[in-house]
Formats: sequence, C-alpha cells, structure tokens
Amino acid sequence: MAKNLLLSSRTSRDIDAKIERVLNGLGNPEPPIRLEDVRALLNLDLKFYTATDPGFAEETISRIRVATIQVYKRPTLLIDAIKKMSLKALYLPDRKRIMLDGDIPEKKHRWNEAHEIGHSLIPWHDDMMHGDNTHTVSHSCHEQIEAEANFAAGRLLFLRDRFLDEAFSVDPTLASVRKLHGIFGNTLSTTLYRFVECVGVDVPMLALITGHPHSTKRKPEFDEAKPCRHFIRSPAFMARFSKISEIELFKAVAGYCGPQSGGPLGATDLILTDDNGENHRFKFETFFNRYDGLTLGTYLQPEQLMVAVS
Ligand SMILES: [Zn+2]
Repeated sequence: MAKNLLLSSRTSRDIDAKIERVLNGLGNPEPPIRLEDVRALLNLDLKFYTATDPGFAEETISRIRVATIQVYKRPTLLIDAIKKMSLKALYLPDRKRIMLDGDIPEKKHRWNEAHEIGHSLIPWHDDMMHGDNTHTVSHSCHEQIEAEANFAAGRLLFLRDRFLDEAFSVDPTLASVRKLHGIFGNTLSTTLYRFVECVGVDVPMLALITGHPHSTKRKPEFDEAKPCRHFIRSPAFMARFSKISEIELFKAVAGYCGPQSGGPLGATDLILTDDNGENHRFKFETFFNRYDGLTLGTYLQPEQLMVAVS
C-alpha cells in the first residue's frame, strides 16, 4: 500500500479497510470510479453553492472545524462561515451532505468530493462539520485530520492498489502518466502526484507542477523565489536528495524547455548531487497542458566521475 508518511500504519489500514468495503459494495468496479455511485451507496447528498447563489442563505451551523480546530460559539449562517473561511468544500455529518463550491474549476471537483467522502467514512471525523479551503484539500496538507481525508480520497479515486499495479507495469514517463490519467479519470496533476508517490518508493523521482517554464511565457504573478505550485518528491528522492531546492530544479527545467504553447516542451538528462555530494544522472521531461507545466524527473544511474586531464 502506498503509505502517506504522516499516518501511522494502523490508521492507514483502518481507512483503507473502509475504502475496500465501499469498492466491494460497488462490485469492485473498473476505473474510472463514479463518485455518484459511491454517494448512492453511502446515502450521501451533494449540493453545490456559489458566492452569488448560495441556495441555503438561511441555514445555520454551530460548530465547524477547518484543519486546526475553529469553533463558532453561537449559531452562524452557513454562507457567512463559507465566506469568512474561504471554504471550497465541506461535509455536514448531521445532514450527510457534501457541499462543493461551484465557482472553482470543475476539474477540481472530483478530488474535493472524494476528500469529503473521506471525512464521511472516517468515524472519528464525525463529531464536527469539516470545512475545507484550498490548503486543507491539497495533497501536501500536514494536518492530521486532513491528511487522513486526503489518504482516503487517494485510495478511492485510484482504486486502492489497482493504480499501483498499473503504474508499475508502464515506463516511468509522462506519456505513461497521461495514459493513467485517461484510465482513472483523475486530473493530470493528481495522477502525476500519485505516480511519483507510488513508483518512487525505491527509485528517486520528482515532479514539478508549475506555470509555463519558458522565460517568455511566464505569467506576471510568477515568483522566482517560489517558482513551483507543487514540488513532489518521492520517498526515495526525499531520503537521498533532501538538499535540492525547487528553485535550482526550475532553473534547470527552464533551460531545456521551448516556448511551445502546448504539448511536450523538451527533455534532457540532468545531473543532481545527492546529500553525500555524489552525482547522479536523471532523465527529465516537461509537458504543458495549457494550464500546468508538468515535469517528471526519474533516476537513471550514478554519474561516472570525470577526471580532468591536464
Ligand atoms: Zn477536509
């Protein structure tokens, strides 16, 4: 099982058993999993809201948690809580209802919905309403409760070990990631994240999710000090290459990427230095899907020591 490093193995096993029960209940379906079927099985209700048309202006809540505990002392209008805490998704256990912000891009709904299904499946999350902002539904959220909901979302959307089996049967390339994205129906960035996390347990791998890397194609809000939206490191990469920064990686990627407005932007071998000062060769490639620049770096071999000849 691809284990989230933040969770104990007992917690991961508990949550995974709940996902297994759901998939069994659905007759172990082929990917992509249909979340409407999951909701029907679990008797969960789904509602969308938007800032302009909340559709539930009169509804109140009394207690809600957003990552670290925040509790209202008195009943509050639900829409005020949503606005005040910038909630993108929430789960109301007493109503068995998932609510999603209809204003966020549709491709993000699937992960957010699965994350809320995760909250609904974990019994110890049931004592309070869960409100989620962009931070708490992100894969890198380190709050315990949110990491648990994200773990459940990943196990559900990637059908437990089914993704693992498929990911290990293909070459570690972006073409493979795109193929798996088609099979499992999750976003390309979610699939890339999962791929690196699973396949890179023993092999050092990394991925970057960025804007277009070419200097002429960067957005005005591009920040040189924080060039990547996500810097995903596999467990083996983290263990051996902990000192490499996203800034130096992004610079190297920008060095080989062309200005094309979509498709493959380039590929090359790069030499990365490990924590012991030894050099290793990685294969890098970058693809632009018109929203995100996706880069995959995979370990090849130790780099032969070059001896200078005088
Ligand atoms: Zn959450």
